[in-house]
Amino acid sequence: MLVLERRHVLGGAAVTEEVFPGFKFSVCSYVCSLLRPQVIRDLDLPSHGFEVIPQESTFMPLPDGRYLFRHGSEEDTYQAIAKFSSRDAEAYPRFGRLMGRLAKFLAPTLTMTPPDVGSLNPAELRKLLALNKQAKTLSEDELYTFARLMTMSAADYLDEWFETDALKAGLCSSGIIGTLLGPRSPGTAYVLMHHYMGEIDGAYRAWGYVRGGMGMVSESIARAARAFGAEIRVNAEVRRILVKDGRAVGVELADGEVIHTRVIASGADPKRTFLTFLDRSELPADFVRGIENFKIEGSSGKVNFALKEAPSFSALPGNGPHLQGAISIGPSVDYIERAYDDAKYGDFSRRPFVDMCVPTTLDPTLAPPGAHILSCFVQYAPYTLRNGTWPERREAFGETVTDTIEEYVPNLRDIIRHRQVLSPWDLEQMIGLTGGNIFHGELTPNQLFFLRPTPGWAQYRTPIKGLYLCGSGAHPGGGVMGAPGLNAAREILKDMALRRV
Ligand SMILES: Cc1cc2nc3c(=O)[nH]c(=O)nc-3n(C[C@H](O)[C@H](O)[C@H](O)COP(=O)(O)OP(=O)(O)OC[C@H]3O[C@@H](n4cnc5c(N)ncnc54)[C@H](O)[C@@H]3O)c2cc1C
Repeated sequence: MLVLERRHVLGGAAVTEEVFPGFKFSVCSYVCSLLRPQVIRDLDLPSHGFEVIPQESTFMPLPDGRYLFRHGSEEDTYQAIAKFSSRDAEAYPRFGRLMGRLAKFLAPTLTMTPPDVGSLNPAELRKLLALNKQAKTLSEDELYTFARLMTMSAADYLDEWFETDALKAGLCSSGIIGTLLGPRSPGTAYVLMHHYMGEIDGAYRAWGYVRGGMGMVSESIARAARAFGAEIRVNAEVRRILVKDGRAVGVELADGEVIHTRVIASGADPKRTFLTFLDRSELPADFVRGIENFKIEGSSGKVNFALKEAPSFSALPGNGPHLQGAISIGPSVDYIERAYDDAKYGDFSRRPFVDMCVPTTLDPTLAPPGAHILSCFVQYAPYTLRNGTWPERREAFGETVTDTIEEYVPNLRDIIRHRQVLSPWDLEQMIGLTGGNIFHGELTPNQLFFLRPTPGWAQYRTPIKGLYLCGSGAHPGGGVMGAPGLNAAREILKDMALRRV
């Protein structure tokens, strides 16, 4: 097996890079939980250096100087929420249990090949029956909730549970990550549930840092692959997939080198794979239309700060456990919806939603002694700007993010050593994410499961024999999950065993 990576470093959006001397950033993705336990087990990733440090809290400073800090035991969380509403504090564990149940119901579908719903093939019908059986693990109420979640907005769903705006804002932020939708847009309740599917050691909704940064996910997978005999080449950009008589026969690299092979798995997104590596004339017209219609407009940016010392929040000054977990700036549902309003009309948010963390509080190896990294995932930053270009407006975006955080961390500018600003355009240039979309395409229900990337082609095979899709543009979508690759590998091995390729 030969792996070809365009960049000088492996990992795509799961990468650690020393961007400034002594500061190792998880440049793009920053927390891990969706990585499938089967992938961790099968590849024995811990023996190749993979280790997760649980991120056990969520801290949300509020503009009025108060804060919501969910952490520790159920009792601690109850007390934190009860400061705002005892009704919400009562409801919160029930909400968590229900989301956990639904996520558990859905989790097995992540590592299955979606059924071909139009087929009468017994194997496909068996998959539908298995889904039906799986649905029976839910109560009737839970099943209805699941069906409603697929179409509701995160805000509407949370309104049914809670009255505290800050709590709803904190929870609904999971529903907008990576999507060009606001918390009141239908479909975001599903994205919320998607983020509940993470598990570390079996604990649903658990997120964690990877020791050494997210690049250690990729590096440990690479080490496992090499141990199985794979060859991995960096600085090896694929320019074209070579096709003869409707089947893949090899790839041509940017430097002109041609590599012949009969099986190709593309980890690039569907638009890049089908609309740039291939000529449209090599594909059926309706398939090309489906890929052209696949929604892949990016909505997020990333700002990584190298800090002289830990940030100090005016709502809860000094270093402490609140800096170890997720930190969220997005104090109300209206705030996040307004941030989306800007993006909807082609601008980055004047006051963005920022999901931050300080990974150096738990993994000091990432920065020089005493110094820290502040990793900021930012929404919204639409790929297509109404005015100007991203290279022209990148630093203004960085300033807006810095100003927004400064409202909560007054000495921020005094402690910044370096700042890396990545717009969706930069993500496209650097990582090859078309439209800067962090998930290789929106995770909305119209682009999921047997519809991903396009109806009729959700089983990792493509109209070109021997060419497979194995990245996040295939089921089950984005996140550092390993699932599309696992599923694609299973289908490829099946085809090889049956001598179909
Ligand atoms: C800013 C950001 C923050 C995120 N945060 C999180 C998070 O905290 N947690 C989480 O779980 N997920 C997060 N995600 C999503 C997650 O990182 C991605 O969904 C996931 O890493 C995608 O993996 P992939 O292998 O499908 O694709 P990619 O990571 O996009 O990998 C595709 C690879 O193909 C290579 N490539 C492209 N074109 C060519 C070519 N022509 N020749 C050779 N190689 C090529 C690219 O260089 C890249 O290495 C984030 C993503 C981004 C961008």
